[in-house]
Amino acid sequence: MRIAALVLAAGRGERLGARLPKALLALAGRPLLLHAIEALGACAELEAIVPVVPSAELARCAELVRDRPRVWAPVAGGAERQDSMRAGLAALPPDVELVAVHDAARPLVRPGDVSAVVAAARDHGAALLAVPLRDTLKRVRDGQVAETLPRVACWAAQTPQVFRADWLREALAKAEADGFQGTDDAQLVERLGIAVRVVEGDPRNLKITWPEDLEIAEALLAQQARRRTQEAAPR
Ligand code: C5P
Repeated sequence: MRIAALVLAAGRGERLGARLPKALLALAGRPLLLHAIEALGACAELEAIVPVVPSAELARCAELVRDRPRVWAPVAGGAERQDSMRAGLAALPPDVELVAVHDAARPLVRPGDVSAVVAAARDHGAALLAVPLRDTLKRVRDGQVAETLPRVACWAAQTPQVFRADWLREALAKAEADGFQGTDDAQLVERLGIAVRVVEGDPRNLKITWPEDLEIAEALLAQQARRRTQEAAPR
């Protein structure tokens, strides 16, 4: 089965308040985009990894990912995340059967979790990584709790989300015909009436959204590195 990954990195990252687009911000000295690409690159089943980047950053990103095996030349994204997904999908050859869509803003995804969600999508056609919610959800209006939502059965969706390419193309076409913008890709596929499998991921696969998320991610990376050093040390 031919499987490709899109790494969506074309967001401006306004909530981070930085001058650079979010995917180019440094985490432990390297851009978020490279962390995400390396995690996906560790999964041999992904034949092609296609970065989707801001059009103004095409040359810089092409230089960043040059000579990385299975990583294709970046393509320019669009104004909304869904536009970037469409641009990435258009760059894939028609014989790609499964597409993994990953946010560059999730640099800490574990390769084992990527493989697990790809395996679920091979079997079921559509799958995503998610984690059970820890907090109780409140709908808030004008600074006051308007409603408490039942937490039971609520999961937070992450990426990668992996789909049969024909389903993803159809889902995107339907969303566009209906003028619908989703906040993730699974939402578009769900609108076709397709069941999306949930694979339990890792809470550390956090999405870098606010400045403090970068600090948390740095701390998690440092902890990983310490663990690796301890494991490698002679006993
Ligand atoms: O903005 P948000 O945090 O939801 O973005 C999620 C991911 O989608 C990020 O990795 C971002 O770079 C990407 N994105 C994109 N094109 C856009 C907006 C977001 O590729 N127009």
